[in-house]
Amino acid sequence: MVHEIGNAIHSLATRLFPICRSLTGQGVRDSISILQEIVPNLRRIAVESGEQCFDWVVPDEWNVTDAYIKDPTGKRIVDFQECNLHVLGYSLPVHETMSLEALQDHLYSIPEQPDAIPYITSYYKKRWGFCLTQRLRDQMQPGQYEVKIDSQLKPGHLHYAELIIPGRSEQEIFLSTYLCHPSLANDNLSGPCTLAYLAKHIREQDNFYTYRLAFVPETIGAIVYLNKHLTELKRKVVAGLVMTCMGDEGKLSYLPSRAGNTLTDRAARHVLRYVEPDFVEHSFLDRGSDERQYCSPGVDLPMGSIMRTKYGLYPEYHTSLDNLTLITPSALQHTYEALVKFIECIEHNEVLTTSVYGEPQLGKRGLYPNLSTKQSNKIVRNLRNLIAYADGHADLIKIADEISVPVWELTESVAALKKEKLLHTDVQAVALCGS
Ligand code: ZN
Repeated sequence: MVHEIGNAIHSLATRLFPICRSLTGQGVRDSISILQEIVPNLRRIAVESGEQCFDWVVPDEWNVTDAYIKDPTGKRIVDFQECNLHVLGYSLPVHETMSLEALQDHLYSIPEQPDAIPYITSYYKKRWGFCLTQRLRDQMQPGQYEVKIDSQLKPGHLHYAELIIPGRSEQEIFLSTYLCHPSLANDNLSGPCTLAYLAKHIREQDNFYTYRLAFVPETIGAIVYLNKHLTELKRKVVAGLVMTCMGDEGKLSYLPSRAGNTLTDRAARHVLRYVEPDFVEHSFLDRGSDERQYCSPGVDLPMGSIMRTKYGLYPEYHTSLDNLTLITPSALQHTYEALVKFIECIEHNEVLTTSVYGEPQLGKRGLYPNLSTKQSNKIVRNLRNLIAYADGHADLIKIADEISVPVWELTESVAALKKEKLLHTDVQAVALCGS
C-alpha cells in the first residue's frame, strides 16, 4: 500500500489531536494510554510535583475542563470546547465579568496572522489568559465580558513513558520525543506518533543495540529523565535522536549534537545525503528542543535531530494552523524511512579490517559475477573499494562515505566478505564506534 506507515502515523496523530495536553495532567495520561495500544510494553512513570531535579522543580499538575469568554450579549465567542489552544497553558482558574479594556491584558493574538490562534503557555509565572485570532479580537465591542477558566493547578504528578527494547549489546540508541503540546500536529504530535511506529519496527528486528525510547514533556521532562538516569545514559548511549517536526512537506533537515561529529551526526548526514540530497544542516546554535538538556556540558549525549522543517521556521509553528492538514502521510512516511535507514546504518556500523595483503581473489570464492555487465562491474568496484578502505581504522559509515555508496547497499557485501573470512571485525572496535 502507498504510504502505509505514513497513513498509520497520521491516523494516530488524528486520534491524539483533540486531547488537551500540557506538561502535566489528564491529557498526558490519556495520550500515553493511546500510545500504549501501538507500543504495548510502554511504561508510564509518575514523578511527584515538587521533586527537585538538577536546577528545576517538578511543577504542580494542571488540568482544565472548560473555559470561555462570553460577549456582552451572553454568546460564547471563545470556547475551549472548540479549540484547546484558546486557553493560555497553565492558566489559573478565573470567573469574572470585566470590561473589554481590562480583558485586553489577558488576550493573546498575532496581528500578522489574523486567522491563527497562537499557542502560548505560562508554566512558571502564575497568570491566566486566552488566545484567539486577531480577526475575532478586532470585532470585539466595548462592554462587559464574562470570562471563565475552569482549571486546577495543584500538587500532583508529571508523567512520562519509557520503553527499553533489549539488544545483544548493553550499549544503547536513545530515541526521545516530547508529548506536552495540545492540539498541534507537526510540533508536536508527529514526533511521538512516528516514534510509536518506529518502536514497532525496532521490536520486529534482531538488534545489536539496546533501544531506549522516552516520551517526556519537553524541557522539564528531559531534565527529570536525565536526573533519574544520567549515569547509565552516559555509560550506555552511543547515538540518539530528539524526534520532532516530522510530518510537514518541507525538506528533511538536521540539527547536530553540540559536539557535531558523534556517531549520530555521522550516521544522520550519511542517510540524508541519499534520502534528501540538498538537506539543510542547522547549527547547534539554532537548537530549541531537548538537545538543550541532552547535549549540555557534563551530560554530553550524542543527540541530534532529523527533522523536516525545523520548529520556528515555518509560519504555522505554534499556532492553530499547525494542524492535521500540515502533516501528510507521504512526508511522515519519508521521514520514517529515513529513520529506519539511520538505525540500519548504526546497527551495521563496525570497524572493518581486510584479512589478506593485496586484493583477495574474488573469483575463486564465487564473489565475482559470471557476466561482465554494467551492473556487475559496479558490484565488483564496490567490493574492491570496500576492501580497499577496510584498514582497521575506518568504520563502515566512513568507508561508505569514502566510496560514495550508501551503507544499506554494502551490508550484504560485508556479510559475504566476512563469511569468506576476507573481512573481520575487531570486537574492541565495535565498542569504540560510538566514542
Ligand atoms: Zn513547541
